[in-house]
Amino acid sequence: MIKAIKGVKDLLPEESPRWRFIEETARRWALRYGFQEIRVPIFETTTLFARSIGATTDIVEKEMYTFADRDGSSLTLRPEGTAGTVRAFIEHNRAADPRPQKYCYAGPMFRHERPQAGRLRQFHQFGVESFGVADPRADVEVMSLLWRLLSDLSLPGLTLEINNLGYTDDRARYKPVLVAFLKGVEQHLCANCQRRIEANPLRMLDCKVPDCRTATEDAPRLADSLSPAARDHFERVTAGLQAIGIPFHMNPRLVRGLDYYCLTAFEVTCSHLGAQNAVGAGGRYDGLVEQLGGAAVPAVGFAVGLERIALMLPEAVVIPSTPRVYVAAFGTKGADAGFSLLDELRRAGVPADMDFRSASLKAHLRQADRLGALYTILLGDDEIDKGIATLRNMQTKAQEDFPIRELVSSLQSRLLTSVSTPFSS
Ligand code: ATP
Ligand code: MG
Repeated sequence: MIKAIKGVKDLLPEESPRWRFIEETARRWALRYGFQEIRVPIFETTTLFARSIGATTDIVEKEMYTFADRDGSSLTLRPEGTAGTVRAFIEHNRAADPRPQKYCYAGPMFRHERPQAGRLRQFHQFGVESFGVADPRADVEVMSLLWRLLSDLSLPGLTLEINNLGYTDDRARYKPVLVAFLKGVEQHLCANCQRRIEANPLRMLDCKVPDCRTATEDAPRLADSLSPAARDHFERVTAGLQAIGIPFHMNPRLVRGLDYYCLTAFEVTCSHLGAQNAVGAGGRYDGLVEQLGGAAVPAVGFAVGLERIALMLPEAVVIPSTPRVYVAAFGTKGADAGFSLLDELRRAGVPADMDFRSASLKAHLRQADRLGALYTILLGDDEIDKGIATLRNMQTKAQEDFPIRELVSSLQSRLLTSVSTPFSS
C-alpha cells in the first residue's frame, strides 16, 4: 500500500470546515485592513531563498526541499511566503504603483523538519506583507491585524512578544561585543551555537537549549547598542500598540530565525501548544527588497501557522454552515421527479443531497440524519399524482405537505435568509 510521505498530512472532509473557517476569518480580517490576496508559485529558484532568508539560518542550512530541474538548475519548494512575494513585487514593478501595496497570502510551505504535533514537512501559512511605508504605524497595523484575527478565532492563552532589532548599523555595532562575550562562554554552548558564533551570533539569543540559555544569561544586550533613530521608531510602535489597546510583552531575546528582519520583530505564542508554542511571527524587513534587486522599499509583515491555529481552535467555536435538504424519492415517478427537484434546489442555491443507493423510507431517513440534513423532502408515486410532497423537519420530526412547485421557493426563503453568509471583499 502506498502511504503519504512522513510529515505530510491529509485533510479529510470532516476537518475542512474548521480549516475553511480559519482561512476565511484570516482573509476577511486582512481585506478589512486593506490587504489584497496574492498567489505566488510554490517553487522558485533556490538562490531566492538562500539570498533572502540567510545562508546560516536553520531553514537554508537544513530544512529546504531543493532539487535539480531537468536542465540542472536548482529549484526549491518554498519554505515561507515572504521571499516569493518580494520577488513578485520587484518583478512586476509594484513600487511604481501609487496605491498602498499590501498583500496577503495563504498556502502550503515545505521544510524538512522532524515531524511532531504542530510541526510538519508540508504545513500551511497565512501571511501579510505591507510594502513602501516606513512609518511605525505600518508595524502597528500588521501586529494589530495579527492580534485581532487570532482573538476573533477565540484562541486561548495568547501572548504578543516584541523586540527592537535596530538597524543594520546597530547590529553591526553590537555583533563584535556579543561575539567577544560568546567566545568567553563557548565551551558551554550547544554545537549549533558554537558553529554560528562568527557567522550568525544573534541567533544564539533565540537558542532553546537550556545550557545555552544559562550560559548567555548575562550576555550584553542589543538594546544598549541601539541608535536614537531605532529607539524612536520602536517607542512609536509601542505607543501605537498601547493607543489601540493591544497587549504586548518585551522580549529582548526575540531575534527570529530569518536574517532579513530589522527594527520591530514580534511573535505570538500560545500557552496551550506545548513545545511548538509559536503561532505566528513577523517583523520589519526594510532592506530585503533592495537586497533582492529592487528599489529601497521598506516593508513589514507576518506569517501564522494554520496547523497550530487548527490545534488550538476551541471545539465550541461555531463554524457557520448552510443547512442541507435531503430528497427522499421512491417509486419510478418519484425517483425521476426527485432527481429533477434535487437539481432545481441546487440551482436555486439550496444545498441538497440524495443517496442514490437508498430504496426504502427508513434507509433514506437514516442517511438524511447522518448527513445532518435539516429537512427531508418525501416524494413517492402517490405524492406525484397529487402534486404535493411532504417536508419533514429532521429536528422536530414535524411534517407538512406542500405543493411540489412551491417547494423550492419555500425552502429558499427558509434556509437562505436565516444563514449569515460571511461577506467577501
Ligand atoms: P519554530 O520556532 O516553531 O520553528 P519558525 O520561527 O521556524 O517557528 P516562522 O518561519 O516564523 O517559524 O513561521 C511562522 C509560523 O509558521 C510559525 O510561528 C509556526 O506557526 C508556523 N510553522 C513554522 N514551521 C512550521 C512547521 N514545520 N510545521 C507547522 N507550522 C510551522
Ligand atoms: Mg523553524
